[in-house]
Amino acid sequence: MVKFKELNLEGEKEKKSGSEAEKKHKSETEKTKCLIIGSGPAGYTAAIYAARANLNPILYEGMQPGGQLTTTTDVENFPGYPEGVSGTQMMEDMKKQAERFGTDIRFGEATGADLSKSPYKITFDEEKVIEADTVIIATGATAKYLGLESEQKFKGSGVSACALCDGFFYKGKDVAVVGGGDTAAEEALYLSGICSKVYLIIRKDHMRASKVLQESVLNTKNIEILFEHSTKEITGDEVVTGAVLLNSKGEEVKIEIDGFFVAIGHKPNSDVFKEYLETDKSGYIITEPGTPKTKIKGVFACGDVMDPRYRQAVTAAATGCMAALDAERYLGTRKF
Ligand code: NDP
Repeated sequence: MVKFKELNLEGEKEKKSGSEAEKKHKSETEKTKCLIIGSGPAGYTAAIYAARANLNPILYEGMQPGGQLTTTTDVENFPGYPEGVSGTQMMEDMKKQAERFGTDIRFGEATGADLSKSPYKITFDEEKVIEADTVIIATGATAKYLGLESEQKFKGSGVSACALCDGFFYKGKDVAVVGGGDTAAEEALYLSGICSKVYLIIRKDHMRASKVLQESVLNTKNIEILFEHSTKEITGDEVVTGAVLLNSKGEEVKIEIDGFFVAIGHKPNSDVFKEYLETDKSGYIITEPGTPKTKIKGVFACGDVMDPRYRQAVTAAATGCMAALDAERYLGTRKF
């Protein structure tokens, strides 16, 4: 008798836990009219517009909440800030503005996508699935590395792709920055204010950076530019202590440094969507010219993930706005 009761209880327990598992599974899939992926100027601007249009957007912040601007110095070219503003502050302000109108902001990274049919399914952190009538991709771009073995070895112990994040650790020390574009120039200038000496390693015989930045770099005494140099190896035992470069004649040039900053451009974060969306050879999502519309109806791309040309906070914000407006229009023309 007792046994029977016990068995029965076990059965009940099983039934209960089964339905709990079902509930849990269901709770892992949510539905929304508008899903925004990314939390840079494009993502937050899309959220502000979508929330104000009553689309109740869900926004996933991704791996770097606030996006690339949180790793920059003052932003002086975003209209409305006559005195300039720190990148982090600007992103916090945008986030607050998106929240004020009811955007549901969450931490998580898109790890999978099924855009084969509507509602589109996006998986976050490999477990949570969101079904969305419209998807706004604002995943931005990520820093590129040289691809050296030694670079991998010293990542986090002397090699960095963000002077603003890590420059402080090299106070009073010698460092190198590789790259000849605006990012490299800005990073070299930033580091020149903290470090004793900054080598700027440029593979060509000229810089690609804007004239203003080039002049600033040239006029900074503790920046030494090494034109026509490439990096063969970053050296050290536990941490970086130097680098071996190759000059235009193929000769080795050794420098002693404690930090090595890579500033050679970015890769658009489009891999998760590539199976369904057209991208250019660098991976930038291709949209209908002049719009954030991808080839899939209801799926939009905005900001640096689709813009190889301008890549500015203000242009990213503008395309974020366009994406939200187009999402709203698309939802208005369809019955779900
Ligand atoms: P860019 O693509 O403009 O420049 C990349 C630099 O890295 C180039 O000098 C390139 O050399 C060099 N490079 C690339 N690969 C390698 C490699 N394997 N080894 C050595 N050097 C390499 O990237 P940025 O990140 O500098 O800028 C991206 C965009 O963002 C640009 O449009 C820029 O104007 C903008 N930006 C604007 C800022 C501002 O206005 N304040 C600040 C930062 C960026 P090469 O020239 O030989 O190809």
